[in-house]
Amino acid sequence: MSPNVERVQLVAPGSLGTCWYGKYHYLEPWVGCEHNCPYCYARSRMAVRNSLAELGTNFANPQPLLPRQELLEAIERQANSGQVSIFKLSRYTDIFSPRFVADGLSYEILEILAKSRVSRVIITTKGAPDRQLLELLARYPQKFSYNAACRPSSLLDPDPLPSFEKNLLPLRQRLEAAAQAQEAGLLTTIHCDPFVAQIDDQPQALQPFLDLLESYKLKRVMWSYLLLSPTLLESMPPLVDPKLWSELLERYDLHSERQVLPGQEDTISFAQKNDVALESVDKVAKALMARNFQFVLCSLKSIRGLNLREYPRQMLCNGTFYA
Ligand code: SF4
Repeated sequence: MSPNVERVQLVAPGSLGTCWYGKYHYLEPWVGCEHNCPYCYARSRMAVRNSLAELGTNFANPQPLLPRQELLEAIERQANSGQVSIFKLSRYTDIFSPRFVADGLSYEILEILAKSRVSRVIITTKGAPDRQLLELLARYPQKFSYNAACRPSSLLDPDPLPSFEKNLLPLRQRLEAAAQAQEAGLLTTIHCDPFVAQIDDQPQALQPFLDLLESYKLKRVMWSYLLLSPTLLESMPPLVDPKLWSELLERYDLHSERQVLPGQEDTISFAQKNDVALESVDKVAKALMARNFQFVLCSLKSIRGLNLREYPRQMLCNGTFYA
């Protein structure tokens, strides 16, 4: 493959136009993700596709970017280079991909980061650490923040979007890990992602979900609405109930595409219709306010006409809430 072809980089700076204006670096120790979520945008990114092809694998079967020892040495060099202050794990994968939790690679990477010059490591996961990993995080509570990504409607019986959870550990196991991280002193946030308006904000999903979070004393929430993309419009229909899928499409503005990162056509996405977003934000924010949760909404600024006098000022995410 030509050296000019775009590939996943072990360390890449955040970009302008994304959260926090790029004041962090992403770490991508491997390419692909065993969680293989049907809505994952990483699968359609050119860099990911090229690197998967080069490593001779597919998205659901992640492979480290380098042989293990080389990988660990490269991470150690980068983390101590003085060039990186904050690491975000990760943009295109999950540091708690079950295979790498089981074989200790996730632990070795986090141990290097914990002992490095990097000031902060932001973990966002749909997986869970094992006991040894939790003990490591607990030894460095100031170094890590912990974000557990979960969906309220996964509590419904039946779950209306079962393919979204298919490869994930049970919700309670993930929340238990988050509660232990918080107990150990880590800044811990429940990230409702992807949040689907009129499904995740239904009272019969949202209220039991908030009950459950309260039972774990997890009272910080951030939520991000599901974005669709041209690739997802092709790949998701076989994985979602047809009636629900056509109702869901009705709520999206499929004619006004939004390119998230300038010059990168593989980041085109479609947002929900503005009135759908307004109604949903109101329901979720009021449910969280009624229970005294701390919360922010990701991409709030892209929703027009929200009467911010009705909500707490800090609901406008400045990128530091979960960091
Ligand atoms: S856990 Fe994250 S990176 Fe992995 S497939 Fe799901 S959305 Fe993608």
